[in-house]
Amino acid sequence: MSTPVDPFIACRPGVLRHAWDEVPYDGKAPAFGHVMLNRCMRCGCERRCLVSRVTGEIITRWSYKHPEGYLRAKDATDAAPTSAEYRRMYLAVLLEKEKPKRAPKVHEATATKGKGLRLA
Ligand SMILES: [Zn+2]
Repeated sequence: MSTPVDPFIACRPGVLRHAWDEVPYDGKAPAFGHVMLNRCMRCGCERRCLVSRVTGEIITRWSYKHPEGYLRAKDATDAAPTSAEYRRMYLAVLLEKEKPKRAPKVHEATATKGKGLRLA
């Protein structure tokens, strides 16, 4: 029995990380600054922060809204995988995709059907 593949493996630390795209912010306009909103094109994770229009400095910290199932349940015995472990998992997915597909079995009778016999 194999371990299920992490559907977010490409976005994990040490792998590709999130593929951010800009998203128009349609929430309440801030009194000052500009809300930067981004969404991952792979997993749908969203992040946002408030940026100064004058200096470009980040005024608030990035806040994240992760897709369901992205965050791992944490307890004292369940340490998060390291970046190398995530890369190894990702590599396993890549190798599985690259694995040559098994040639379909061809029944002998089917293989010769239609070729007929040649009479000299
Ligand atoms: Zn992502």
